[in-house]
Amino acid sequence: MIMTILPSPGSGPEPDRPRYRTQSTPPHTPLRPMWACRACGQPWPCGAARLMLRAEHDRNHQGLSIYLAGLMYEAMRDLYRLNPDSGPSPEELFNRFVSWGPFRRSSS
Ligand SMILES: [Zn+2]
Repeated sequence: MIMTILPSPGSGPEPDRPRYRTQSTPPHTPLRPMWACRACGQPWPCGAARLMLRAEHDRNHQGLSIYLAGLMYEAMRDLYRLNPDSGPSPEELFNRFVSWGPFRRSSS
């Protein structure tokens, strides 16, 4: 029997986008390990974060997709540690982080 132990993946991207800031409110970036928005408390990426991420990556759709996929991985790691039995499903996380992005397929 051949047994291979794969190395654990390293950390994903730093969740520091969208970069838009104001003087009076926190940015719409995720608060880990809950992955709630710092500004509005909604599950991240909230509506405002999605709009700003799209605007920031208007000419870099590939970069946005890679960023979102990396953060989905980071969120899985955090959320399954917090709630090992009742965490979100992989499908829910994919829809929340990746499927709204620039390379989604149409439903037809
Ligand atoms: Zn927000």
